Amino acid sequence: MKAGNWFARSLAATGLALMVGACNGAKQPTSAASGGTDTIVLNHFTLIDGTGAQPVGDAALIMKDGRISWVGRSADLKMPDGAAVEDLTGKFVMPGIIDNHVHLAEVDGLDQNTKYYTADNIRNQLRLYAAYGVTTVQSLGTDQDLTIDIRDAERKGRPKMARIYAARLGVVYDHGYGGLPGLPQRVDTPDEARKLVDEQKAKGADLIKLWMDDEFGTLPTLMPYSISTAAIDEAHKDGLKAVAHVFYLNNAKELVREGIDGFAHEIRDKPIDAALIDAMKKHGTWQMAATLSREASFTYTKLPFLDDPFFSRGVTPAVLEELKSDARQKKLAAAPNFSKYQSVFDNAMANFAREAKAGIRYGMGTDSGPSGRFPGYFAHWELALMVKDGLTPLQALTAATGSNAEFLGAKDIGTIAPGKWADLLVLDADPVADIRNTRAIDEVFIAGNKVPTIWQTCVGRPADACKSSEHQPT
Ligand SMILES: [Zn+2]
Repeated sequence: MKAGNWFARSLAATGLALMVGACNGAKQPTSAASGGTDTIVLNHFTLIDGTGAQPVGDAALIMKDGRISWVGRSADLKMPDGAAVEDLTGKFVMPGIIDNHVHLAEVDGLDQNTKYYTADNIRNQLRLYAAYGVTTVQSLGTDQDLTIDIRDAERKGRPKMARIYAARLGVVYDHGYGGLPGLPQRVDTPDEARKLVDEQKAKGADLIKLWMDDEFGTLPTLMPYSISTAAIDEAHKDGLKAVAHVFYLNNAKELVREGIDGFAHEIRDKPIDAALIDAMKKHGTWQMAATLSREASFTYTKLPFLDDPFFSRGVTPAVLEELKSDARQKKLAAAPNFSKYQSVFDNAMANFAREAKAGIRYGMGTDSGPSGRFPGYFAHWELALMVKDGLTPLQALTAATGSNAEFLGAKDIGTIAPGKWADLLVLDADPVADIRNTRAIDEVFIAGNKVPTIWQTCVGRPADACKSSEHQPT
């Protein structure tokens, strides 16, 4: 199928949805909405199950009370009594996307400030992720109790927004890079690092994050290895994985030696070498998130997708106006590090390609959430960049689903199999044929709940205001 065919269909679907008043909530299958048995059958779709297996045509699945109870060939389907049935002929069903590197509620529009860390803002961002088919996010190191409370409430029920995994507060060296100003996460000594790690564990962290960077040498010093060693060791003693923001190849080699479980960014100062590859293989270190979309975004003064409705539906008109403004472009072009970002991005692309070819385990993560890095949209951009970097679309999709769940240790998401939560993305076109078809979102399910998609969303405007801005992206 040629890219673009799905678009006309999704426009038609969106038009219809708007006419019947979507944006008040997604359409619900009748029996689920009317209470009683909550069984939904999806039938006659092509299955992409998240394990990396080749797609299976004419598949079916049953979800009951939010979990997948059966999946297989449509011909083998035993239709349960009272089920709501959706005929998905011509459509594709994959697990919901997992973004393994985000930050929650750091911004309002483009303004970044810790005062925006509110429950409402967290929930709104989780709904936006969900609208883009990102049904789980891992928030890396700038969270406090609110995030953990919302996560715990979600885990007790059947959420209607993206699920959370969280590092809570990551470890920042007092004179180094990382975290957010004002958050109690800065340490000076190995003992303080251990104490901070233990506190995160006690307060519910799913993993531990640390930062080792100096912002192109503009900060006084990098986190000393005595502190990273202590943080990683303490995380492991607490039964948690530790992941690192890295930039420099030398640091990456040391962190692997110290037992880091994953990198939350690519190495970006220079091309990686065989020594790092060998060490990562030996230690089972993951390239958990390459954040290619993050690095790409820094190379633009004006992002190349501002007129794409798949993007603009997810931001307010005021944000869009600011992103397009001459003032912003002048400011970004004048930033002292702007000229460095192209080579940083090129290094990230080259290094990720080399790792993937060498058989290093990798996931998918964007580092979206800070100002100018947009929840949900960036996950689709990341997938496209991974494919541009040499992965097959199926490999990129597997990274963002089954592999990411494996890294999280999340046994009930990431693949489509009996017992897993029904966190599903229904697409109008084949993402294995063209990765850009992940944008052809027809339906999103989280724990069997149908949630509004981005094509039923129009942030900061009345529900029908986005209709006139529809057009095919260039
Ligand atoms: Zn980050």
